[in-house]
Amino acid sequence: MNWIDAHVHLQGAQLHPETLQEGDRLGITRFVCSTVVGMGYSPTFDQVRESNDHLSAVIERHPDRVSGYCYVNPRHGGKALDDFRRRIEDQRMIGLKLWVATLCDDPLVFPFIEQAIAYRAPILIHAWRKTVGQLPYESTAAHVANLAERYPEARIIMAHLSGQVESSVQLIEPYPNVYTDTSGTPIGGGEVAIAVRRLGAKRVLFGSDLYGICLASNVGKVLGAGLNDDELDLVMGGNMQALLDGVVASHDKTI
Ligand SMILES: [Zn+2]
Repeated sequence: MNWIDAHVHLQGAQLHPETLQEGDRLGITRFVCSTVVGMGYSPTFDQVRESNDHLSAVIERHPDRVSGYCYVNPRHGGKALDDFRRRIEDQRMIGLKLWVATLCDDPLVFPFIEQAIAYRAPILIHAWRKTVGQLPYESTAAHVANLAERYPEARIIMAHLSGQVESSVQLIEPYPNVYTDTSGTPIGGGEVAIAVRRLGAKRVLFGSDLYGICLASNVGKVLGAGLNDDELDLVMGGNMQALLDGVVASHDKTI
């Protein structure tokens, strides 16, 4: 068993102290992390840089267990792009994380997407469609589909099935470069089953959105989705491992 959690956040500067042991118990060998928590919706460049420093240090301590997406606030332009390059080329990070500082299909984001394409690096995009209280720059599956249409080479992971499985699957289904992850409290075994049936098991990744939620129940909703063994292997780790294996960077990879 070589399962990978494709969507994890640090708790402050650290991985939650119990995460690695929980992973040992549940068969999860790698956690692919980003920062974002606690910085506000549009953090300053210094806040983002410091948080990426924390993630880089965690990766250094646990290179066999932890990988990282570099978080960027696209409003910071060229200096954020330089930081992204440095994290990938010199610090073992493997991907890009976008949250709610801009919509994901804003032209401000395009240089980051183009750089991620050059690295063949996965791009984890927060997406969530709410009935009320949508944040002003919170992407939905429609924005993800728009970005995927513009950049068919980008390896995009739409987080949380964007919170609504039926509407999101409908929108991203035409774009084979868009994957999705299983994290999010509205996503249960039934939603995972729908996603696998409609998108195919190769486009669905196990993710928990740790910390602050239960890793075991997030594993449980995939185990409870009625997948066959091959599908389960792909969702629980095979797909993310293939994405990690595809990353082209100049550092000596240990992922
Ligand atoms: Zn998240």
